[in-house]
Parts: sequence; structure tokens; C-alpha cells
Amino acid sequence: MDTSPRIPGPPGERQAPPGVQGLIEQTLWATSEISRGFWGWGAAFGGAPASNTRASRLLVARMQILANADAKMARPSRLRAHRRLLSLTLWMMIPGGLIALTLFAMSRAINVAAWETSRRLLSTPAEVSLSMLVPTSSPTESPAPSPSPNPSPTPTGTPTPEPSPIVPPTPTPYPFFQEPLPPTDGQTRTLQVPILMYHYISDPPSGADRFRLDLSVRPSMFEAHLQYLRQAGYETVSLSDLIFHLTQGHPLPPRPIVLTFDDGYRDAYEEAFPRLQRYGFRGTFFVLTGRADEGDPRYLSWEQIRQMSEAGMDIQLHGREHVPLSGRDEAFLFYHIIGGKQSIEAHTGRPVRFLAYPSSDYDQRLIQFLEGYRFWGAVTTAFGADERLENRFLWPRIRIRGTDDVGALMWKLSVPK
Ligand SMILES: [Zn+2]
Repeated sequence: MDTSPRIPGPPGERQAPPGVQGLIEQTLWATSEISRGFWGWGAAFGGAPASNTRASRLLVARMQILANADAKMARPSRLRAHRRLLSLTLWMMIPGGLIALTLFAMSRAINVAAWETSRRLLSTPAEVSLSMLVPTSSPTESPAPSPSPNPSPTPTGTPTPEPSPIVPPTPTPYPFFQEPLPPTDGQTRTLQVPILMYHYISDPPSGADRFRLDLSVRPSMFEAHLQYLRQAGYETVSLSDLIFHLTQGHPLPPRPIVLTFDDGYRDAYEEAFPRLQRYGFRGTFFVLTGRADEGDPRYLSWEQIRQMSEAGMDIQLHGREHVPLSGRDEAFLFYHIIGGKQSIEAHTGRPVRFLAYPSSDYDQRLIQFLEGYRFWGAVTTAFGADERLENRFLWPRIRIRGTDDVGALMWKLSVPK
């Protein structure tokens, strides 16, 4: 019995279409036939004895069918054509494969080269900026002279090993103030200076919602507040003044008060600023730098901020935008806080040392961030007057509402005592 495996051609009734598709179909058919053949062999010799005879019969029948098919396929020209096509395809696969392999290798090489180049280009500024982020000296100090190129040693004479001083590369001073907290003189001090918190100083527009109404102190009422404060002997100080007192005992006036204004609305310039000047008061304005950058007409412009700063108003940071800052990563905080700080300092030339948390939203990571970048403190919207060094990133304030007349102001000033 001829059991040599061979790939039979397609049966006569199944006319394979010409060309590549025909070849594929033929190959598939042959594969299925082989597998079926093996199945038959397995059943005949390895299977259960009871089914042996049936399996053998099936196998013989299959062999006959295959033989018949071979006979029917006795069309040598057709077979030759198929074989030619097969060998041609195989031969074409060799150069094709070689070309594909070459292209693949080339693209790999190009990729690697590009990656190496970009890595080289990127590594230099990254290192510089990292070293700039942790300067040991405050940027107010004059930058150290840049290292002069070392003269190459002369080849003549005995090379005396000179102790050449290692000049570290001078980083470009990072353009924002990072002043350390003034050193403490060893004394522990506490303060209960009221830090008032205003928002709008304007008549609320018609149809204003309750939030806008609550945040809006009418200019006439604001004037009355200032009048009362002056009569009562209050003198305005800055948050930095409080820090200087807590750390070094710098004297404060008998009745110090801090007047803060959040969000940097346009009326801070139009309403609050001229009145503060008239009363000889200093305001602390927590501004949103993104609004000034945009030229948003509802908020302070950079020109107004600059004028106010030059007139002695303290411009501090509320954020780049009014977004909650808790649960944020370093990059986000850097963009919103250091970005805002840089903008104010660039426009005013004065350091930004304090942040008013937008929506009074903060967490430990944010406080650590502020401390790391040498902020001196931050204020919340919690009610109270309690300034110490330990809680300097959580100083409370006294919220002034739209409904607060002078009586309410007096009452609020008396409560924390
Ligand atoms: Zn705010």
C-alpha cells in the first residue's frame, strides 16, 4: 500500500480559480487533506481496536478518492503552471524579504540616532534648570562672576600641580525671589493682629446673586470702615511686618491691622486703592495673574498693579487662576504658584511672599511646596486672628461681608481678642 504522503491536487469538481487566490485555496485544501489523512492514520493504528476496522475502511476509501482525484487531475500543464507560480512566489520572497529586512534595520538605526540626539539636546537645559531650582543664595544678591575659561597648561616646564579652585557653573539666577524666612532671635512670639478679608469694593450689579452680594462691600461702606479704623487708632501693616515681628521682634504699631483684598477685581484699583491712599492705609492685594495676562477688564491690569505697588500697596498672590490647589502635583503647583509669583515680581519688582489659597483650599503637600520655595506664609478664610510662626501657612482672617456695616466690623474686630 502506497502510504507515502503526498500533496494531492485539487479534486476535479473543485476548480481552483487561477492566480494567487487559486494557489492559496489549493494550499489550504492540501493542508486540510493532510490533516484529515493523519486523523485517518491515527484512527486506524492508534485508536481503539473496535473502531480500527471502520477507521481502516474510511482510510482506504479516502485513499481511493485521492487516487481518483489524482487521475482526474492528470492535466500536467495545469500542474506545471501551478508549480511555476509557486516557485516564482518563493523566489520573489527572497529579495522581498531582504528589502524588508534592510528597511527595518535602517529605520531602527534612524530611530536610535534620533533618540540619542534628542536626549543629548534635552539633557543640558534640564540639568541647568534643576540646579537653578535649588539656589543656595537669594536672587537679590549679585550673581557670582561667571567662571573664566581656564588657561590650558603650558607644555613647557615642569607641570607643577596647582590647586586649581573648582568653580561651579554659575546658574542663571532663577528669576523669582526666594528669600529665606528671617532668622529667629530665639524668642517665641504670638500675635492676634486682625487680617480683614475684602473682595469686591463696589455696588453689586443689578441682578447679582447672593454670592456676589455677599462679597461686595459698597464703596461708601468701605469708606465708613476706613473712617472707623482711623478713628480707633488702627494702623495698617503688611504680612511681612508680622513675620518680622514674630522672628526678630520688629516693633509693630499699637493697633496693627492688615487689610487684604482677594481676587484682584478692577474695583480694587478704582475704589479701594484711592480710598486707602486717602486714609494713609496700606492694602494687601491677592491677585490672579492669569486675568491680568488676559487683559480681562473685570480684573486688575498689570499697569494698575504696577501703579498700586509703586504707591506702597502690597501685591501678593492668589494664584494664576482661581483654581483649587489641593491634591495637585508639583508641575501644576509650579505653573500656578511660581508662575504667578514670577509674573507679579516681574511687573512690580517686589517679592511675593504670601499666598491666599483660592477657595481656602489647601493640603499638606501644598504647604510643603510653598515652604520649599521660600514662601513666608499663607492665609485662609478661617475666622480668627492668630499669627504664630508655626501656623504661618494657615493664618486665619476676618471675612467682611457685603452686609457688614461699621457696627458689624467693630464686633468682628472684638471677637478674636
Ligand atoms: Zn478668591
